[in-house]
Amino acid sequence: MAGPEIERLIQLLARLPGLGPRSARRAALHLLKKKDALLNPLAATLRDVGESVHACSVCGNLDTHDPCAICSDPRRDAGLLCVVESVADLWALERAGVFRGRYHVLGGTLSALDGVGPADLNVDSLISRAQAGGLREVIIATNATVEGQTTAHYITDRLAPSGVQITRLAHGVPVGGELDYLDDGTLGAALKARRPL
Ligand code: ZN
Repeated sequence: MAGPEIERLIQLLARLPGLGPRSARRAALHLLKKKDALLNPLAATLRDVGESVHACSVCGNLDTHDPCAICSDPRRDAGLLCVVESVADLWALERAGVFRGRYHVLGGTLSALDGVGPADLNVDSLISRAQAGGLREVIIATNATVEGQTTAHYITDRLAPSGVQITRLAHGVPVGGELDYLDDGTLGAALKARRPL
């Protein structure tokens, strides 16, 4: 239908999360229609970002600087480390503005099904950071999925010899949530994680 260049554009767009072949076709047409306003600036930005953004060698965050802005910010608590699965999770915590420590991005979760083992994740660098000293607490903020919890247990075992305090995010009733709407697993976790008032 379209020329090979346009087909290639559509194929690449279709590989983006949330875009199937149909929406990729629409996006490609939209880009081509808005060449000056969208296509060209986007192409330039993609090139810039591709060249200047790298994973932080300390925490795995994405930034133009290495160490990243969070790792090199002296106002952030260097004794508090939050372990997350992905940069998306780091961004979520940053958006919430509730955490003033530093991060460690694992780059995924352990998954026997997908063949992801400890060597595929940034676990060794986490252990090295804990062994280097200066950490008071490691907060494990992996997702409340089977893989996330398996990964949390594995990390806890690996961190144990370092003697650093290990905590994890609470599971339970969401803020503004109603008990009647919660699934059994969430309700069970909330009951288990109850605390004195
Ligand atoms: Zn960093």
